[in-house]
Amino acid sequence: MNSKNKDLAENKRTHSFPRTGKDTPVQYIKGVGPARARLLRRLGIETLEDMLFFFPWRYEDRKNLRKIGSLGFGTLETTLCEVVSSETITTPRKKMKIFELTVTDGSGTLRAKWFNQPYLQKYFEKGQQVILSGVVKGNPYGGGGLEMENPDFEVCGADDTLVHTARIVPVYSATEGLSPKQIRTLMFSITAAHASLLEEYMPKDILRRNNLIPLVRAVQEAHFPEEYTDIGMLNRGQSPAHRRLVFDEFFFLELGLALLKKRESIEQGISFTRKDDIVKRFVQGLPFDLTEAQKGVLREIGADMERPVPMNRLIHGDVGCGKTVVALAAMLRAVENGYQACLMAPTELLAEQHYINISRMAGGLDVSVALLTSGMKEKPLAEISEGTVRIVVGTHALIQEPLQFRNLGLAVIDEQHRFGVVQRGLLRQKGLNPDILVMTATPIPRTLAMTLYGDLDVSVIDQLPAGRRPVVTKVFFPSQRDRIYSLVRGELSKGRQVYIVYPLIEGSEKLDLKSAVDGAEALKKIFQGTRVGLVHGRMQRQERESVMALFTSGDIDMLVATTVIEVGIDIPNASLMLIVHAERFGLAQLHQLRGRIGRGGHDSSCLLLAYPPFSEEAKRRLKAMESTSDGFRIAEEDLAIRGPGDFFGTRQSGMPDLKVADIIRDTGILELARKEAFDLTGTDPHLRDYPLLKEAVQRRWKGRLELIKS
Ligand code: ADP
Ligand code: MG
Repeated sequence: MNSKNKDLAENKRTHSFPRTGKDTPVQYIKGVGPARARLLRRLGIETLEDMLFFFPWRYEDRKNLRKIGSLGFGTLETTLCEVVSSETITTPRKKMKIFELTVTDGSGTLRAKWFNQPYLQKYFEKGQQVILSGVVKGNPYGGGGLEMENPDFEVCGADDTLVHTARIVPVYSATEGLSPKQIRTLMFSITAAHASLLEEYMPKDILRRNNLIPLVRAVQEAHFPEEYTDIGMLNRGQSPAHRRLVFDEFFFLELGLALLKKRESIEQGISFTRKDDIVKRFVQGLPFDLTEAQKGVLREIGADMERPVPMNRLIHGDVGCGKTVVALAAMLRAVENGYQACLMAPTELLAEQHYINISRMAGGLDVSVALLTSGMKEKPLAEISEGTVRIVVGTHALIQEPLQFRNLGLAVIDEQHRFGVVQRGLLRQKGLNPDILVMTATPIPRTLAMTLYGDLDVSVIDQLPAGRRPVVTKVFFPSQRDRIYSLVRGELSKGRQVYIVYPLIEGSEKLDLKSAVDGAEALKKIFQGTRVGLVHGRMQRQERESVMALFTSGDIDMLVATTVIEVGIDIPNASLMLIVHAERFGLAQLHQLRGRIGRGGHDSSCLLLAYPPFSEEAKRRLKAMESTSDGFRIAEEDLAIRGPGDFFGTRQSGMPDLKVADIIRDTGILELARKEAFDLTGTDPHLRDYPLLKEAVQRRWKGRLELIKS
């Protein structure tokens, strides 16, 4: 089909959408058409509803456009003026092309400059009206006149006043072929014609209690704010319209979580009983006493496991607080009740370490433990399905392999935000509604835990075992190499062991970074007589295990590694860690790495070797590491530096996106929305009385809640 015919065919299909609804593909909306629909798709817009929910990222006040003669210096100004002339000049030395536009409005003239964008020439003609928005520069007394560098611009047409000037205008993210102004034009007609199609799904009393404006008004005003709306509030996402939209995003997120939780709570699970058998022997056999916090959490887990409803609990606590011991006790409770248990870890190395530790701890208990990773040649699938293996430790292979348990009773997930509701569901399908226990290795701020794990009950281990020493952390620069070497030597001479962590396995052409393989070679020469081992993610399992075993037994003094050692490795005699290119690591990652030391009651230190120049963000991360070792504070700082989107990647975890809402900024609204969502499912767990809400929540969760029974 040639493209003309194709357009015709697509036009024909218009007739199958006799009435416009929120699901109408955007191409059939007046003013869009197939070509623009393709561009809009790049912005994630498919339907009319998507379009209406595509909000501006900022607003500009064009009500009171300033005259050129009264523009302030150094401030962001917007002005409406007429093009006098334009030219492209090339700087003699650097051959840079500068496009210059001279404009006037009768009160003065202004020159706008754009660097290396000579194509701009074609946008402007003499006599045209343009709006320029940028920071005003130049010295009026120096003869140079007023200037703006790289201002935002819009060329005005004759009938633009209504949409593009003389009001607060929305500024949309653009895509090639579709400018912010074109989107604004489209949005103006679309909101006017179709916003009223959106049905109010939110119950009236929720709107009233939380002081929320109606949906249609919120959508209209988020696009084209009323005349007297405060521009600052708009740009901070705090106008009444934003408040409503933010509430809705959180509400649907929480409503989905509440429904999942509710669904599980009415399902039949396993009721484990306390047998005072294996678990008791295990706890008594430990070389230490459990902390009060560990005992408390174990009691909570025990109570959950006794109830005939599937457990869904999160254990939350800082690195080294002893989560694994608690999880193992829970697994043994399942085992002593005749069930199997599994533990799923995010990496192969961690699975291997858990396997080694658990096999050792379960050693005297006559419980058989197996490892399962996808890299293994011979997988213990038969032993697992027959039930001779009671505890399985593994990676994602646990949900990916065609694995059948004989009777899985408890699944433990050791994760670092890498797992979401959806994946937990998959694991649950491996058994008959087994109990689920999630351990987070990185503490996360309370608000985030509430959102990410809103369907889980939370236990906190807020106490470290006695004898832990704070780790002294300090940033070093390459010029201080000798100082670093002498600190390392000092620890080695006391019989301690050290970790040296690199960002890369091998040297790369593209990145000028130090690598573990090269580093190990260099370190062997520098520290003659020191037993140096190397471990990284691309090694064979056997090789990696034997290196780790040698480090554990003290037959290796210096372990050179990549971040594979981030979690789970537990060597009390290790008292120093050097992180090379520390500026390259994320904050949570640095904290996890540092958690490997300071475990044996020795004074320990973490040296962060940073290679300048590095970003402001990197500087903040390094500072945070120096100033605190409290995982919760680290997590909060991390969230503040990275911003919520990146931090918790809702998409990856299978939850609806937050487009308008900001977890940090809007915590208050999150709490309100959460309460309403959970209250609602408390009285109407199937949303029988709220068909519109039910449809809306399923739509936002993209079918992932389809299991909700009606
Ligand atoms: P987490 O998983 O929370 O980072 P682990 O469970 O790996 O912590 O425990 C870290 C280390 O502390 C392990 O060597 C473990 O045996 C030890 N440990 C756990 N609980 C205690 C305790 N109550 N007293 C002393 N040592 C403990
Ligand atoms: Mg651990």
